[in-house]
Amino acid sequence: MPISIKDDPEILREIIMDHYQNPRNKKETADPRYLVVHMDSASCIDDIYIQLLIEDDKVTDCLWHGTGCAISTASTSIMTDLIKGKTIKEARYIMDNFAKMLNEQPYDEEALGEAIAFVNTYKQPSRITCANIGWRGLEQLIEKEEAEEKKNGR
Ligand code: ZN
Repeated sequence: MPISIKDDPEILREIIMDHYQNPRNKKETADPRYLVVHMDSASCIDDIYIQLLIEDDKVTDCLWHGTGCAISTASTSIMTDLIKGKTIKEARYIMDNFAKMLNEQPYDEEALGEAIAFVNTYKQPSRITCANIGWRGLEQLIEKEEAEEKKNGR
């Protein structure tokens, strides 16, 4: 059976370190078309903003900025990379499967890309909040967008 990267702790650690040291999409925009949410944590230094641009049902851009620990920085960085260019439906599928993985439920490994680096996070409950913070922010923004669309009758 081929070995999956999720069975190699060294590779998983490298993915996290790479995104921590070179976070993707970490910048701020003043463009008013972006939805924005502020997320912080009672148990960690994490204090971040997520900015999301949705056009024609598609995530055209996802940026973030602020302060985060290694886990939240890497997780948010990977998330922004994964969902850019996806439809809302595809983005939700990725988000659902990431949440399932953190909750030790069956999940679709294919959908998660580098987010598989957090496959063992469930073993450290204190880290789940960190791994999840950007994703929870994203979910709030997508819900906001969907409420907006409903209101406009689309
Ligand atoms: Zn943290």
